[in-house]
Amino acid sequence: MAAHAVLVPFPGRGHINPMMHLARKLASHGISVTFVLTEYWHKIITEAEDDDFSHAQKLGLDIQAALIPDCMVAGNMVDFFLSLSNMETHVSELLTNLKSSGTTPSCIVYDTFLRWAVPLAKRHALLSVALWPTSVTNFSIMYHSDLVGLQDCIDYIPGVPSLKPADLPSSILSPSPVSNEILQSIIDARDADWVVGNSFYALESKAIDALLHKTPVQSVGPLNMPSAHWGDGKGVSQCREWLDSKPARSVIYVSFGSFVQVPRAQIREIAMGLMQSGYCFVWALRPDKEASHVWEMLPVGYLEQCKEQGLVAPWFRQGEILSHPSVGGFFSHCGWNSIMESVSEGIPILGFPIGMDQFTNCKFLVDEWEFGLRGRSREDENRIIEAEEISRKVKVLMEGEESVRLRGVVERFRELAKEEVTNGLSATNLKLLADKLKEVKCPSK
Ligand code: UDP
Repeated sequence: MAAHAVLVPFPGRGHINPMMHLARKLASHGISVTFVLTEYWHKIITEAEDDDFSHAQKLGLDIQAALIPDCMVAGNMVDFFLSLSNMETHVSELLTNLKSSGTTPSCIVYDTFLRWAVPLAKRHALLSVALWPTSVTNFSIMYHSDLVGLQDCIDYIPGVPSLKPADLPSSILSPSPVSNEILQSIIDARDADWVVGNSFYALESKAIDALLHKTPVQSVGPLNMPSAHWGDGKGVSQCREWLDSKPARSVIYVSFGSFVQVPRAQIREIAMGLMQSGYCFVWALRPDKEASHVWEMLPVGYLEQCKEQGLVAPWFRQGEILSHPSVGGFFSHCGWNSIMESVSEGIPILGFPIGMDQFTNCKFLVDEWEFGLRGRSREDENRIIEAEEISRKVKVLMEGEESVRLRGVVERFRELAKEEVTNGLSATNLKLLADKLKEVKCPSK
């Protein structure tokens, strides 16, 4: 019988996506995967066009969905985070059911933020593998959080170059119950059998090496490579046709991830900035709590005025957009998945970090890896980036000498990433992990 792994993502898009990519990789190594989703996410994922589970089936990969109830407290982030522990009972029940049906798993692969997972794995005598949801650099910063003071120059974190306090992830900069949970989850990960990261050695060698004798984070990314291609065209044909009609690398894709809210005043500046840049754009703009439709958030008449220049919708399949040859730049909040997806497609980034790990990611993107620019914000408490600055930076990203340089750098990283996932360390680490899971004798019924 094939080795069997139970994969449990944190219930959020930016965590489910990389876990699903990991599921595909493990399944293509012959591992049967049970992928655990809360009801809410199960509905979203399975109702999508060419959904992940049917897609896996078409590819002959054994990835089955398992449903648990929506047991988290909705509302604010703190309540949500603190109620993640409610998942434990349901996952434990699932493990017991799998065991009694004769499909005993050998391990739980869990999102590092799910602090209950390692003790649960131990109770069921299973291996535990943590998937770290952001950069290894962020792991090192948070791992060494007890060292970090907020002095002007933070130049002593192993494997991390000199930072300013503003470059730190919010879990360190702004203590809160959520920050505490995140920092604790790194301490807990010391007890996991493996920690894997959606990154690659050429990008983060120093941070990866610095953790080797502490909690090693094995790079297995970019997990989304080989990249998402256009599916059968159903449901996306309008966007595809539109993109097909544009010259190569002439369109900028704009998205600020799956959940952060951008203030309306900033959205208006972005809208005007994109229009003034003259570049065609595809903008994933989610309605905020007060809006039922995106046009309510935009200047009056904007969509009509820009109908030749841009497509605006609450959601695009980002992997597909970034892989289209007409797309030449990404205006992004610097979520970690977005960065990995952009590198995998060789697309330079204009960074607009908003919170959490995004400031750190943006700092690295611009100053260390050098395939990104950063928008300069106004020096008041609202920190708005004005339309003029956006328009100017979009032009720098898309045309001229600096654009050519950025593209050259990101292309080099893309080649290195491709090499890592085919013959390099990411491929080796993944194979070692799969072999380890196959080796484990499943506990008897
Ligand atoms: N995403 C997408 N379409 C959108 C917005 C986001 O497909 O319109 C996907 C994106 O490809 C990525 C994930 O959602 O895989 C967002 O993760 P990221 O880490 O970039 O940001 P987060 O949402 O966690 O802030």
